[in-house]
Formats: sequence, structure tokens, C-alpha cells
Amino acid sequence: MRVTQAVRQRLEVRGRVQGVGFRPFVYTLAASEALSGFVGNDERGVFIEVEGPPPRVARFVERLSAEAPPLSRIHDLACADVALRGEPGFHILKSTRAQAAEVEIAPDANTCPACLRELLDKGDRRAGYPFINCTHCGPRYTIVLDRPYDRAVTTMASFPMCAACQAEYDDPHDRRFHAQPNACPRCGPRVWLSDPQGRELAGAPFAQVQARLLAGEIIAIKGLGGFHLACRAEDDEAVRRLRARKGRAARPFALMVPDVDAAHRLVKLTPQDQALLESVARPILLCPRREGAAISPAVAPSTDRLGLMLPYTPLHHLLFQGAALGPLVMTSANPNAEPLCVDNDEALSRLAGLADALLLHDRPIARGVDDSVILGGPDALPIRRARGYVPEPLWLSLKSPAPILALGGELKSTLCLLRGHEAILSEHLGTLSNPAALRNFLGRVADWPRFFEIEPAYLAVDLHPGYASTRHAAKLDRPIIKVQHHHAHLAACLAEHGLEGPAIGLIADGTGYGTDGQIWGGEILLGDLARFDRIGSLYPFTLQGGDAAAYDPWRPAAALLLAALGEIPEGSLPVPSALATRLMTREALQTTSLGRLFDGVASILGICSKNRFEAEAAMALEALAVAAPQAPALPWALIEAEGQRRIDWRPTVRALVASTAPLEIKAAGFHAALAAAFAEAAARTAAASGVGLVVLSGGCFINTPFRSGVRASLEAQGLRVLTHQRVPTGDGGLALGQAVVAAARLSAGLR
Ligand code: ZN
Ligand code: ZN
Ligand code: FE
Repeated sequence: MRVTQAVRQRLEVRGRVQGVGFRPFVYTLAASEALSGFVGNDERGVFIEVEGPPPRVARFVERLSAEAPPLSRIHDLACADVALRGEPGFHILKSTRAQAAEVEIAPDANTCPACLRELLDKGDRRAGYPFINCTHCGPRYTIVLDRPYDRAVTTMASFPMCAACQAEYDDPHDRRFHAQPNACPRCGPRVWLSDPQGRELAGAPFAQVQARLLAGEIIAIKGLGGFHLACRAEDDEAVRRLRARKGRAARPFALMVPDVDAAHRLVKLTPQDQALLESVARPILLCPRREGAAISPAVAPSTDRLGLMLPYTPLHHLLFQGAALGPLVMTSANPNAEPLCVDNDEALSRLAGLADALLLHDRPIARGVDDSVILGGPDALPIRRARGYVPEPLWLSLKSPAPILALGGELKSTLCLLRGHEAILSEHLGTLSNPAALRNFLGRVADWPRFFEIEPAYLAVDLHPGYASTRHAAKLDRPIIKVQHHHAHLAACLAEHGLEGPAIGLIADGTGYGTDGQIWGGEILLGDLARFDRIGSLYPFTLQGGDAAAYDPWRPAAALLLAALGEIPEGSLPVPSALATRLMTREALQTTSLGRLFDGVASILGICSKNRFEAEAAMALEALAVAAPQAPALPWALIEAEGQRRIDWRPTVRALVASTAPLEIKAAGFHAALAAAFAEAAARTAAASGVGLVVLSGGCFINTPFRSGVRASLEAQGLRVLTHQRVPTGDGGLALGQAVVAAARLSAGLR
């Protein structure tokens, strides 16, 4: 008799492994390798025992990671040999339902190919059903009210499953086994069309929406994390009406296109861009617009880019089925800076004057979550991190000695919870100077620690005494760790790359509070997660007018001209020179803001006299520069004074004023000068310190010719350059930076 060699291994899998079809996957995998054993859930993840011939057990372990279900994420896999049991077959153990604390909730995910097939299959029982989903796809974070993740604590609780859905839910071999949002037309949510007064309109809702869009109407659409306002992007009259109704003069609108071919017709996409566009997160991707793209010029009047996304819920897929709508404008339905509209009554009252009809449904939204935004291109850069990414944790190399809640900045605010190696960054929560956004933010501050069962021992905040987030922290009765704004930018970028420094931080930012009480922005830092030194900055200039300086590019322009030329030439600004001179010589803050330098130069070139939305002037300047890629750099200088390395833009401004070259050449020459100066400042700092790692962070690095210029020059000198890949390069990333700086300081005993 031949004795078969067998081994038995126990595996413990940690990460996002519940509610994502992991156990059925393990079952199928074990069956395909003809192994016996079992799989089950516990409060920390999934445990597995497999028994069989060693090569097949080894192959099982290998395939477990390689072929895991699309929404799962394995952070840790522990294997150990255990005693043989010789049981027949492989079983899925019933879950004890005591699961919780450390099991992750997945972000919302685009409709999977299997569900999409069923959606469009006339014979399927869910054909045309806008809420089809399975364990590989569908809503998650936007429907979860509490944890552990179970239907009873989602906004699906009020929809008891019919017998057919329940059978799928209970069958370990089904794609919908424990799919918490499982539903069908018989038992699940429904969609209907409403007039602005809340009266349901008769007829097939999708066919009506399509007909109304084709007739030029504006429709409010309740989606996953909020409401959009939609109209056809080719319909110039409709787009202009939408702008007028929303009171939004120029800020670009995002578009939804039915498929990737339609995207290719509007913008230039690299293969990497296309992969991002089609990823399960389905972000809005900003890409260079194709000449002659067939859309209304009012969609994005002051930029050469378009923001595009693909349909990401079955409801959105159905919008485009069977009608030639072309691209749709899909803009958040909330007025600028206000939190998203999430419920039907609120939408009816807030959107009544904006939309001609509303496509509503009765699945409540647990919390408003915006579309995420990524700048496409070879080094794609996150701009807004929300739907599809939150609440996926980032795993850090450092381990925090205590749980920390970081409250972020003031603009593009986010929160970050840090526990051990795990950092959970919240969705974009907007601008806290808006009272409704602040209320929403404070709600999240109260709710998040409870939701994740992480009780913060410390709070981390920005150094700025005036930020609403900083002021609120003082009321929370926890020890507070204050973090300088640009140090937080540097730390956020290091942390997301799993690094702790030291590094040179080239920070290209609008404004942030400095340790000297002045307004910093374009900075050269040297430091690690715990500490930093300011090595240098832009040459400072006068910041006159407070907040108005960000809206009126002529204000920084006046300061630049006065510093560079000693006078403000008559006719160079939209205000009289004498008035501007008088203003600039008053007592005022000094700033090294790169954002204001861009604004000022745009004003000096006469291309933008008013920022109608954030960074409009800088975007217009960038669009000009892109048109003249070969233009030579204008003069610039680095000056070493008072122990600081200053990037001197005064020669650049003088050259701009004297030049008679076309605008494109001047704009490009300015960008090239700035990139060369920042790169040289970093290179000198690298040579002096021996640190060869350069981190690029801050909102102004969204500017592509500037960012690529700096990167190319530093890499040519053999330096390693990091940009953001997972968290926003702007203030949306600050909370992560604050949290890791606080953790590193606590570890180092610094506080
Ligand atoms: Zn699916
Ligand atoms: Zn059902
Ligand atoms: Fe910033």
C-alpha cells in the first residue's frame, strides 16, 4: 500500500477580506487544487486550513494572493504547519458574526463585468435594474452606517430580501454570498423621475430622462454619494443655462462619457490614463483636451484640460443605454463650497430652481462622498481623494505609539485617523470657511472615531491659529500637537511612499502659516517626519489685502512690480499706479506664496484680472506655457542671505516686463525659470546635506510644465524625486501629514 504524503497549513489573512467574496473564492480555489479543510471569518479577518500534497498546498498559497477577488486587499498573510486531520472535502464555516474592529470596509466600486452583463441581458431577472451589485462590486462606504459591516447597519436595512435574493445571499458558492447590498426589482430600491415640486412623473424614468436631456433640459440625478446636475455637453445653450442657474461663471464642469472610445474622442489618453479611467474607483481624470472636441466651449472655458469619468453605478450605465446623448456634464448639484445634497427632500428644496426634473431613488446615502479627481499623465497626481478610495487605509512604515486624529487644514479639508501602522484619510470635506461645510466637518470629527472604533489619544492640527479646524481642536479636551503646514505636506508625501526621511521638501504651495507668523508657500525644507529646517524659500513679497489677494491677481502683481522695478509702471495694472503703490507700501504681511507669484505674473501679462475660481489665473498661465514647450528660461537667481536660500524672481519679472515676445513664449519662459530655480535650490541643498531624496508636494505642483521641469532637472542630476500617488498633493493631504508628524514626534519624545 502506497502512503500519500500530505501536509496541513493554517493561514490567517488580514486586510479587506470580508464582504468581498473572499470565502467563496477560497472554496473554489481549494476545490480546484483538490484540497480538504475549511475557511471562516473572525474578528480579525479570514482563517483557512488546507490539507493535501505539499506542491498543491504551496500552489494554493501562491494563488491565494495572486487571484484574490477584485475588491479584496491582503495586508498580511501568516502561514503555519498544523496537525493533519484527514477530513473529507472543503467547507465554508458559518461566520460567528462577532467580527468587527479590524476588518476593513471597502470603498465603493464600479459595476463589475458580470453584473453589467446581467444588467443588459433582457432575460436576466435584474435586466435594467439600477441597483444590481455583487460581492465584487457596488456601494460600500456610501451605504454603511455602522460596523461590523452587515446589511442591518447599512442603508439597505429597510429593504428585506425576497426569497430569490436571500437564497443567493446564503449560498457560499454564489457571487452574491453575503453581498450586503444585494437586491432585485422585487425587493430592492426603486428609481423614479420627479418634477421640481416632488410629484412623481409617469412613464419609464430612464427613457424620460434621455428624452429630456436631448430636449436641452437640466436633470438632477441622485447617484452614489450625492446628486449631480446633468445636461448634454454638446448642447451649448443647456451648458450656459446650467452655469447661469448654478451661479458658476467659469470653474470647469466634469463630464461623464459612456465608454472609453468616447473619452478618446475628447481627450488625449495614455494607456496608464485609460487604466485609471477604467479602474474600479472610476475617478474624474483631468486630461489634455483634443483640438475640436465636440463639446460646448462653456464646459471648461479657461483650461486646456477636460475632467472625464466613466459611468460607475448601474444607474449611470443605464443613463446612456439606447440613446445617443454624447458626453454629459455631471457636476455636483450643491452650490460651490457647500456640502453635497444627500437626501431626496433636501434635494427637492435646494435644487428646485436648478433642475427641470430630478431622477430620485429610495436607497438613502449614508454620507455625502464627492467624485475623486486625478490629474492624468505620466506621473498621475491625486487632486481630490473621495469616492472609490475612501476609507481604504494607507499602511505606513512607522507605527504610531498612540491613536491620533488629525484635523487637516482649512481648504479642501480632510481628517485622518492613525492607529498603529494604519492611516485612514477621510473623503474631501470642502472649505471650512463655508458654514454648512464646517457643520458637516464637525459632524465627521464626532462620528469618525466612533465609526472606526479608534479613540484618539492626541489631536494633530495646523499651526494657523485662525483655521476653524485648529480652533475646534481646542474644544475637544485632548492633548494637541501643532504641525507646520509645509512640514505636513512633506510628511504626507514621505508617508504615502512608506518612507520616513530625511528628505528635501520642495513645497509649491498657495499659503500656509509659517513658524515666524508670516505666510509661507514656495519653500525649501530639509527634514524627516519628526522635524524640519527651513533651508530657503521664494524671495518674499508683500501680501496686501488678506483674502482679497487670492481673488485679485493685480494685488500680488503690484507687489512684484514694485520689488522688481522699484515702481509700478502706469497702465500695467487695472488700477491706478499711485493707488497700488500706496497700498503696497502700507504695513503688511510678507509672503513666499508661490500661488500668489503665479497670480501676479498672470496679471502682469494681462491674461487674468480676476480669479473667478481658485487658481484660474495660474491655470490660464499654464495653458499658455504648454503651447510653447521649447521657449528658453527667463533669467532668475538664487541668493544666499541670512542663512536662507532665496529663489529670486525679480530678474524674471524684469525680463517679463521688458520682453516683446508672444505671450506663450513669456509664459513658458517664466515656467522654465521657476522650474530651474527650484531644482537648483534643491540640488544645492542635496550637495550640502548629502540627502539625495527630493519630495515635491503642495497644490502648485498640479502645474504640469513646472512639475515636470523640476523633476527632469533633479533626475538628470541623479537625485530621487517623489510626487504624490495616493493622497492629494494639495491641502487634502495635510491631515495625513499632520498625523504622521505627530506620531513621529511622540515616538521621538518630542511632542
Ligand atoms: Zn458585480
Ligand atoms: Zn430580491
Ligand atoms: Fe498647502
